[in-house]
Amino acid sequence: MSYRSASIVRTVAVAASLTVPLSGIAHGQVNVHAHTSARSKPHPALSASAYHIYAGNTHAHTSYTWSHGDQYPKSDCKGVPVYAPDRNSPEVHSWTAEGGEARGNCPAMVIMGSSQYPGPYDDLRPDWKKYQGPPSEHFALAKENGYDFYAVTDHSQEARLQPASRTNPTWVNTKRQAAEATTPEFVALTGYEHSENDGPNGVGHLNVFNSDSYLNALDPGVDLPYFYKWLKTAKPNGSGPVVASFNHPGPKQYNNWDYRDPQITDIITMLEVINSNSHIHYEGFINALDKGWKVSPVSGNDNHGTSGISRQTSRTFLLATSRTKLALLDAMKNRRTYASLDENIQCRYSVNGAIMGSTLAGPDTFKFQIHISDPDTNQPKDKITRIDIVRDHGEVVQTYTPDTPDYNADWTPSITDSTSRYFFVRVWNAGGGDAPGADPANPVAWLAPVWTGR
Ligand SMILES: [Zn+2]
Ligand SMILES: [Zn+2]
Repeated sequence: MSYRSASIVRTVAVAASLTVPLSGIAHGQVNVHAHTSARSKPHPALSASAYHIYAGNTHAHTSYTWSHGDQYPKSDCKGVPVYAPDRNSPEVHSWTAEGGEARGNCPAMVIMGSSQYPGPYDDLRPDWKKYQGPPSEHFALAKENGYDFYAVTDHSQEARLQPASRTNPTWVNTKRQAAEATTPEFVALTGYEHSENDGPNGVGHLNVFNSDSYLNALDPGVDLPYFYKWLKTAKPNGSGPVVASFNHPGPKQYNNWDYRDPQITDIITMLEVINSNSHIHYEGFINALDKGWKVSPVSGNDNHGTSGISRQTSRTFLLATSRTKLALLDAMKNRRTYASLDENIQCRYSVNGAIMGSTLAGPDTFKFQIHISDPDTNQPKDKITRIDIVRDHGEVVQTYTPDTPDYNADWTPSITDSTSRYFFVRVWNAGGGDAPGADPANPVAWLAPVWTGR
């Protein structure tokens, strides 16, 4: 059964028997249903506590991203020359210096046709296996380090992933290794990073999760509009939907957030507010929301080696009904996510009884129920010091600062507003998180928006 038909079955089943306590997945569907059926009243609320919180990583590169990564020592090489049809005489190929490197420098990587390779002067570490490994090794280490889930997202322009095809052996191997690594305690997810670096029609990287096949962004004719069109037809790899995230967004990438329509809005449901453990992409997040994208924060470690698995402490958190591939992908699809620089902070909130990530039916009053806690009650740096509610254009609506910061913070403000399109919550703690350079002046967590339905 496809995900689409499964969700229709759930929606119909819930609509038919509203007195039965709603399961988490059903509740998410009810909200979507309520939103799409013209201002119908939201259904009775499922308490936010009905969801479990799972922590993991939504962005990682394994040895299948061979062109760059921890398997090579750092070097001064830079730029990515491309061997492609010559600009003036396309009937022959020539090397095009790209990436702005001066002639004569050693390139960081090279691209031949649509395939990406290591630079010719990249000296592979003799002990490279200590630094990088296949998906199975990443999954094993993630399990050991207490992740609930971990997605491998190798670059689809890598030489070994050509030609892009659902039967490509590297792709098939990735899926097999994920299936073998998944247990009741751990979910291994497959994805790929779609890296649009040269346009035309905009640049930007995206992760696609749980697709049956994939595209190479470097193949002729594959630009963002082509990719979005393909995403709408992409079949899932077994249970769960196909979902996608904007990765490490610049403020105006993706052609300034162009090419949005309702269908793609419900596939690209996430955005990396945190990338590489400590880089914050807040401006891109606000701009995407203001352009109408309905994206929820995630944290992509974007590690290019296995050492990042234990070293990096920022996490994507998913509010899901169970630790299964289906339930976690459903959480992503329904935007029940948050990103944090703290490894285990517990965050959840609802508005008018609807869980974070939901879309309401255009009310004027918004009753928030926010609950934040941190299990590390012997670490004063983890005490909750401030909570903000933010709306359109990044405007802060209300701020809560407890008189005496504690490891728990409950806040239940009510907001009257008849124009905003979204609200979201951000959280501070006393230490600014577990990542290097943690600064308590900056937020530690960014939570899924709630859309007002306007
Ligand atoms: Zn990237
Ligand atoms: Zn990446």
